[in-house]
Amino acid sequence: MVCNKALEYRHKAYCRRGESIDYNQTSAMLTRWKQTERYAFLNEVSSVPLQQALRYLQQGFSAFFEQQTGYPRFKNKRVVTGSVVYTRSAFTWAAGRLTLAKQSEPLKTRWSRRLPHGAVPSTVTVSRDAAGRRFVSLLVEEDLPTKPHKDTAVGVDAGLTTLFTRSTGEKITDPRHERRDRARIRRRQKDLSRKAKDSKNRAEAQVKLARAHARIADRRRDFLHKCTTRLVNEDRVIAVEDLNVRGMLADRRPARAIADASWAEFRRMLEYKAEWYGRTLVAVDRFPPSSKTCSACGTMKDAMPLAERVFECATCGHTEDRDVKSAKNILAAGPAVTACGDGMGHEPS
Ligand SMILES: [Zn+2]
Repeated sequence: MVCNKALEYRHKAYCRRGESIDYNQTSAMLTRWKQTERYAFLNEVSSVPLQQALRYLQQGFSAFFEQQTGYPRFKNKRVVTGSVVYTRSAFTWAAGRLTLAKQSEPLKTRWSRRLPHGAVPSTVTVSRDAAGRRFVSLLVEEDLPTKPHKDTAVGVDAGLTTLFTRSTGEKITDPRHERRDRARIRRRQKDLSRKAKDSKNRAEAQVKLARAHARIADRRRDFLHKCTTRLVNEDRVIAVEDLNVRGMLADRRPARAIADASWAEFRRMLEYKAEWYGRTLVAVDRFPPSSKTCSACGTMKDAMPLAERVFECATCGHTEDRDVKSAKNILAAGPAVTACGDGMGHEPS
């Protein structure tokens, strides 16, 4: 709101008087608004996010005057997303409770995980998503516990029906609720399409759909965190297939899109967790295709259609589950990549 009002003020000044107004002037304006009855409520909230809104607006105007971007736009009031950062002086942290500047009571929060013992956050970010939920994230410094020394390696294959397959033969599938959550999204999408444009009902349906999306994303992220933590716990070297290679697969099914999004997030988590705990993550090129190569004798088949779930070698008679074999081949290619110094290893120094 402050951002829009300041923008309106600056806009008028620019159009009518050809004036350009800077941050200090809008800041002084904010002080004046607070003294009026109509905007007295601004005194109730912390001045930190208000000033930050004005500063963002200033950046927008600076860029505009330097002809880098278009004229700053009015913010959409219906779906307000974005975040505000509070530095150390703008909040208090006591007994695990967070109080933001100008608030008399600590925030009511549901924590996603426990803060390390004795840790004090250095910055607090409050954000809001399209589903209208508010999030608080805390930045803390901590010394990571060292993971037990391991000298084992694992290959991980990402699939469509099975989320991941480990070279040990273990398959990790989508959590059971994923199917139900997806059905909910389809239902919400249908609801939304039936509502009249620009109606209040439509806006409500939009929030409901955003909430359904947020829920599925939250659950998947949680699940991926558990998987990746387990992987860095159990092995020193983790070999995965290279992401760029997957992008070349011309498969545009929705299930594939979701699997790819999960895979990208999984890779990102593995990368930073490997770095934290001194594990080695190796990205393996998928050429020659691991799905066509026999993991026992190395013979390559001409073709291995997606529908064929079991690999059968014509040369040595070896049979194996398709995904497990893939994971094994990825693992086998891993050390070669590490030896060439070509991987994305994070060896402890
Ligand atoms: Zn064979």
